[in-house]
Amino acid sequence: MHKDIATPVRTKEILKKYGFSFKKSLGQNFLIDPNILRNIVGYADLTKESAAIEIGPGIGALTEHLARAAGKVVSFEIDQRLLPVLEDTLSPYSNVKIVHSDVLKADVVNIIKEELAHYKDIMVVANLPYYVTTPILLKLITENLPIRGMVVMMQKEVADRISATPGTKAYGSLSIAVQYYMNAEVVMTVPKTVFMPQPNVDSAVLRLTRREELPVRVIDESFLFEVVRSSFAQRRKTILNNLQSQLPNGKEKKEYILSALAEVNIEPTRRGETLSIVEFGQLADALYPYFKK
Ligand code: SAM
Repeated sequence: MHKDIATPVRTKEILKKYGFSFKKSLGQNFLIDPNILRNIVGYADLTKESAAIEIGPGIGALTEHLARAAGKVVSFEIDQRLLPVLEDTLSPYSNVKIVHSDVLKADVVNIIKEELAHYKDIMVVANLPYYVTTPILLKLITENLPIRGMVVMMQKEVADRISATPGTKAYGSLSIAVQYYMNAEVVMTVPKTVFMPQPNVDSAVLRLTRREELPVRVIDESFLFEVVRSSFAQRRKTILNNLQSQLPNGKEKKEYILSALAEVNIEPTRRGETLSIVEFGQLADALYPYFKK
């Protein structure tokens, strides 16, 4: 077994050798604690029959733990300066493929087909760049990748919003956008001290597991998400007020909105944050004939 990359001493050595300076704009906070890495990888339940997809390997701290646990690792890195570093630090591992690309622009579906065709079990495991956590997650979730789930580190506040349940302050359109497809749970909170440089915010690890079945079947998924976004437009407003002000011609269609709400037994004075995904689904279908036909 090789010496871990993720110790303060080794990380400093590597950074010095390559004269590497962190780019804050790319969310570069590298992990320097092997225990945290072992825990993250443990939550992904990998075997040599599994593959891992990583976003942002940095200098390879998490990548090497994934390479030890999984059969193959494909890792997307946007920062060209890290490529020679990774070639060096990951040279003991022959099962890692680094893709130099912005993951938001990458054709991940095709890369999985090309690189991971033999793997039935694929997990996304990453210490995400915090400035683009949400777009990355939504891309990976909505592109319908053949993955079992994800174990991803992010800003604690975002992890809390994603995993929030109805009736809580953190519950909102992001919770629903993710939980519609995946079960979400925070499995670990992580102190700032395990990063170099230390971020300003607390972090958490979120585990997402693909749902066997969607929580509700709707006529039109994009309309469901439009209803959800509309219902949370102003959190203090009632669901009726939000739908009236956000849906097309909502003001004139008040009576229709009221009858749709009545049809699915949702009081017009309730606020969006009290509705479950199933209720949103039923409401979207009840509104559909008035707004989409
Ligand atoms: N995995 C390493 C670790 O845990 O030490 C580094 C994690 S660091 C929080 C985020 C990494 O994502 C950086 O290496 C950064 O350059 C990279 N990154 C930022 N934006 C990216 C993007 N859009 N696509 C791919 N990689 C990105």
